[in-house]
Amino acid sequence: MIADKNPKRTSLETLGEFGLIDHLTKNFQLQQQSTVMGIGDDAAVLDFKEKKAILSTDLLIEGVHFDLSYVPLKHLGYKAVVVNLSDVYAMNATATQITVSIAASNRFPLQALEELYEGIALACKKYNVDLIGGDTTSSTKGLLISITAIGEAETKNITYRSGAKPNDLLVVSGDLGGAYMGLQVLEREKEVFKVNPNNQPDLEPYSYIIERQLKPEARVDIANLLQQLEVTPTAMIDISDGLSSEILHLCKKSQVGCNLFENKIPLDPTVITACEEFKIDSTMIALSGGEDYELLFTVDQKDFEKIKGNPNLSIIGFMTDASEGANLVTRGDSKIPLTAQGWNSFKTETDS
Ligand code: ADP
Ligand code: MG
Repeated sequence: MIADKNPKRTSLETLGEFGLIDHLTKNFQLQQQSTVMGIGDDAAVLDFKEKKAILSTDLLIEGVHFDLSYVPLKHLGYKAVVVNLSDVYAMNATATQITVSIAASNRFPLQALEELYEGIALACKKYNVDLIGGDTTSSTKGLLISITAIGEAETKNITYRSGAKPNDLLVVSGDLGGAYMGLQVLEREKEVFKVNPNNQPDLEPYSYIIERQLKPEARVDIANLLQQLEVTPTAMIDISDGLSSEILHLCKKSQVGCNLFENKIPLDPTVITACEEFKIDSTMIALSGGEDYELLFTVDQKDFEKIKGNPNLSIIGFMTDASEGANLVTRGDSKIPLTAQGWNSFKTETDS
């Protein structure tokens, strides 16, 4: 669907490995105090003083995690960074550096990698992180990207998945299901395009959800917001796989149960409209859609007044004793056990 906008194709071999690394990284500036040595030596050097270092890594493979027929490389670079930073933010930490490793086949000219690095640069700037290294190699097929995000946090602020207690409130930032519905629209347009390449799709009505899919943002703002509200989350996780699966992670690690209220799940009107159009249940999408990169966390009951009514946050349930299990309380007031895929409609409360 994406036409080759870049008629100029420079083969990667003409630069050689060192020329390529140099070319791709020369415009990156270092911003973080903790970066002592960035790109250019055998290893980077970081100094977090009395703080703890936080580290998370991801591997993305063409055809498995992304499809270049509708994902522009610039967006891919941006998203690859953002999803890693999201993991650092989910520890209630500040992201400070990234490393980027790539393997590209000879199908990719220099201009393609330039585009990828434009997206990476944009994300580094927006989230104030330094690119401090990586690795570059060739692949026999397709593109592979591995990003490691590094961050810092004071020991007392680090939030694990394991700290939730029964009666804690379950809170989520933003709204859910958009990224998945955006993908549905893109997949549909890809099929339409295969049949009729001259078809110009009107994607305007879907711009919010397509953006949620192609250009997600990480919730860098939530740690600050919570600090302002003087709320310390007891447990936290980012929503990469879907609400249901993340709730189950929190429950398992914290050894608690959960009641999630269907009517409290935040949905954007565009998501609701798209779900109607695709004849999919919007609750199902929020529970199992994934890739929203919102933060899901628990707070003590006493913080209810501080969280209540905040436009960035929705209280969607509360934690219970582990023996009660993790459940969805439906609009019809029935209790259904949550499963990693969403919920198990064949299981009733009594046999869970
Ligand atoms: P080595 O041979 O020791 O692995 P390289 O020649 O691969 O070193 O890398 C040289 C420098 O460039 C290192 O600082 C490395 O971290 C950095 N680097 C290599 N590839 C990339 C990349 N794709 N993006 C950013 N930095 C990179
Ligand atoms: Mg190397």
